[in-house]
Amino acid sequence: MRRFSQRYTSTINKKALSLLLLGTIACFVAVVNVNAYDLTPSRWSSNKLNPLYYYVNSQWSEFATARNDWNNAGTHIGSFYSIANPEYAWVSVTKVTDSGVTWPGRCLVMATGGWIDAVDIELNDYYSSTLGTDGRRTVCAHEIGHCFSLKDENDLWCLMHQGALDRVAHGILGPQDDDISGVNAAY
Ligand SMILES: [Zn+2]
Repeated sequence: MRRFSQRYTSTINKKALSLLLLGTIACFVAVVNVNAYDLTPSRWSSNKLNPLYYYVNSQWSEFATARNDWNNAGTHIGSFYSIANPEYAWVSVTKVTDSGVTWPGRCLVMATGGWIDAVDIELNDYYSSTLGTDGRRTVCAHEIGHCFSLKDENDLWCLMHQGALDRVAHGILGPQDDDISGVNAAY
């Protein structure tokens, strides 16, 4: 009888220990999620920043809102400004219409030896009405995030989460703390 009782106690302790361990793992995962951002290997050189100029071939009007969201986010990138002369811009922004792809926007980074030469941001007008105003805004902000060396990530509460409509559903329209931390870790 005593033996049984001791065994029972021992099992309870093991359960308690497992719960404690699971709790520790959960806390660790929560801490890791705070820094979920992932960075591309390429960077802008300092002479191309502060400000970083972009030239608009064509865009959604929400691009300016997304630009303002980033400019007000307090990153080390400084200002991301539209300029009238393409000769002085490192980033070009263009609307395309492509029904054969699933992306609503994309950012093509051209780099040499880890240094960014130029970037093309393309906004797919085929998905314009599907996205709505909030969707177009979050797509523009997401592509600017790629331009600032952020990779896609799975964390739903970040601008760099891949699903534009998921982000809209969660109110993620501009850069979040994690995205800003990522940019500031890169620059
Ligand atoms: Zn992306």
